[in-house]
Amino acid sequence: MIDHVRIVVVGDQGVGKTALVKTLLTENFEEPLEPVLPTVVVPPEVTPEHVHVSIIDTPSGAADAATLEEELRNANVVVLVYDVSRRETLERVSPVWLRKLHEMEISVPVVLAGNKIDLRTADFEERTLEALIKPIMEEHRELEVCIECSAKQIFNVAEVFYFAQKSVLHPTAPLYDVSTHALRPKTVAALTRVFRLCDKDGDGLLNDKELNDFQYQCFNVMLRDEELAGVKNVVREGCADGIAKTGEITLEGFIFLHTLFIQKGRLETTWTVLRKFGYDESMTLSRDSIAGGCGVLESKQADQVVELSEAGVAFLGKLFDVFDSDHDGHLSKQDVAKMFLPHPEDPWAEEQGFLVEASSKGDDFLAREGFMNRWRLWLFKEPEAALLAMEYLGFSEEIGTAFVLSKSRRRERRAVAAQRRKTFSVSVLGGSQSGKTELIRGMLGLPFGKAVLDKSHVVRAAAQVPVEAAFGGGTRTLILSSVPEDQTSEFVSSKSLLEQCDVACLVYDASVESTFSDTLRLYEILSTARPTLPIIFVASKGDLPAANQLTPEGASPEQVCAQRGIPEPQGVSMKSGENANIYEMLVGVAMNPQVACPAYEAEAAVALDSYLIPALKVTAGIVAVGLAAFGTKKIYDKVKASSSAATGTRQEYERGRAPTVSRDRGRGFATNAYKERCDESAQEPTQIATTSHTQSLCERSRNELISYRQRLEGGITACPRT
Ligand code: GDP
Ligand code: MG
Repeated sequence: MIDHVRIVVVGDQGVGKTALVKTLLTENFEEPLEPVLPTVVVPPEVTPEHVHVSIIDTPSGAADAATLEEELRNANVVVLVYDVSRRETLERVSPVWLRKLHEMEISVPVVLAGNKIDLRTADFEERTLEALIKPIMEEHRELEVCIECSAKQIFNVAEVFYFAQKSVLHPTAPLYDVSTHALRPKTVAALTRVFRLCDKDGDGLLNDKELNDFQYQCFNVMLRDEELAGVKNVVREGCADGIAKTGEITLEGFIFLHTLFIQKGRLETTWTVLRKFGYDESMTLSRDSIAGGCGVLESKQADQVVELSEAGVAFLGKLFDVFDSDHDGHLSKQDVAKMFLPHPEDPWAEEQGFLVEASSKGDDFLAREGFMNRWRLWLFKEPEAALLAMEYLGFSEEIGTAFVLSKSRRRERRAVAAQRRKTFSVSVLGGSQSGKTELIRGMLGLPFGKAVLDKSHVVRAAAQVPVEAAFGGGTRTLILSSVPEDQTSEFVSSKSLLEQCDVACLVYDASVESTFSDTLRLYEILSTARPTLPIIFVASKGDLPAANQLTPEGASPEQVCAQRGIPEPQGVSMKSGENANIYEMLVGVAMNPQVACPAYEAEAAVALDSYLIPALKVTAGIVAVGLAAFGTKKIYDKVKASSSAATGTRQEYERGRAPTVSRDRGRGFATNAYKERCDESAQEPTQIATTSHTQSLCERSRNELISYRQRLEGGITACPRT
């Protein structure tokens, strides 16, 4: 909320601008001697809500246009004065004054003040005015309120400035659409989140205790029993589904209450609540609201991964349970949309290229595992957006506890770091039509031949993949991301994309001649760009007749790989569902990079930790699986070689035998509602200068206050403020 409000008073010559400002200050009407007053600064002690207020009177002469424009540019709100006894001044409001603001691209709220009502004549009576004002109000949404006043009779003068200040501090536009008489969708989303956060027991209703806690949190006062009953009566009378049979307030009732406050001009109540829960005028949570907890992300290295913490997993699991309304273990699209109601929009509605496990109920459903992996993917790709979404969905602890940032590979000895990680990211590269997308879909059990995204779209998937018992068993999250052919050069030249990747998986189509040689060029580029990147070849489409893949020099793919010290290509056929356990293998390689990266080995020989023995076992496991599927793998030999190289570092091995892999306070909204009903109404901070005179003036004028906006908009707004 801003703490200094600049109110600029404009209008035709002689309408009483200077007189209005002067009367406000002196509480006495005198014939103005000066055409323009110097800027009036009202100290915070005497303003409602204790903000600095500057009131700027402006000259009306044509010669002073430049001064006027300069003041307008600095305005937070404009008081546009006309003279009710001179019709032409009202007729100039729209074509001259509002047009000027529009042309200057000034979009601040405007309070329209009809001065000199003491001079109102019969031919210029209220009705005629209404007829003239209604179209202006309708056309110009920046008009917050229209109010009639008299500087001479000191009538509604303080109100003019109070409304001006209020329209800056508690603006209508972000909350409410005056053309449809409804809360804006983002306001509904924000209030839905507030409701869910207050609904501590998660039953979708606010019981008396929850309502009172909320009241206390926002307004620092508790509700008395009769006040509570008063609130509920208001809701019951105005909103059919607002109160449950058991007497608690529903979400509909909560939103109804706020709509009522806004329509009654009590915007400060709703604003106090929303600000308390982190909203600003954009009606979204600013990134600042998670900045504290996400500070570590600012220095996140490309090779670090944002993983869900236990608290994060627990929160999302609970969310799944709440929105799986029919308890069938699946969320429908509608369930997901409902879950995201507090979010400014359904962030998953738009295709992100994120694939998740096939659901037994069909494409439109998310099973629990798929749901969790969807979040993991989002955290991986856009951690801040995903964490902000968790905040929107009611993660009530410090957001920093929702995630864990994995260690940078370089910060620790690689092997240990690799084994500690829970998430591995593999980039799948290769020519178009080589079978990258199907390889990724295969990990999720998605049906073959049903991919819908075009070939230049990045496809990502996350799944839990089992880990060899030698590494402590359990599972790791494997994230596969395709690199479309036309994005390959961008990938290989991006340091951060290369760093982010734990393993590169190069796919070639075994049924098309020479595709291995083409992919080999990519291998050479990649291994030059990042020599420590483990790389695996995958020969796809094993169900089709194999084509000749000898290099121009006459070497077979197996020979080429042997020469380069990496595993020979893994043959798969996604069509026949033969994946040669490629996903387990990718995790195994991510955890033991040396088996697919000779450059790593030199590093590893020094830093060899206890991973060696398990590495031997895991790759032996891979060999066995590979054999069953597509023929001999030579990884085993390779690991044997690296293990014999390591015998010289036995001391280190023993020393490092500790792989950690194991497994405004306002018056209270309810009070206000109640008070309004009880005829004690509101409207408390009307005085600008706190003298008893002004106070009594405000008392008097309160009942007579004419707000055309409210009168004209009809409905509940027509309620007199009594
Ligand atoms: P400005 O040019 O808009 O600043 O207008 P002034 O404040 O100088 O007022 C112009 C004339 O209107 C003066 O003679 C004031 O005394 C008179 N005037 C201002 N307000 C009122 C009012 O509420 N009622 C009546 N009857 N006269 C007013
Ligand atoms: Mg003047």
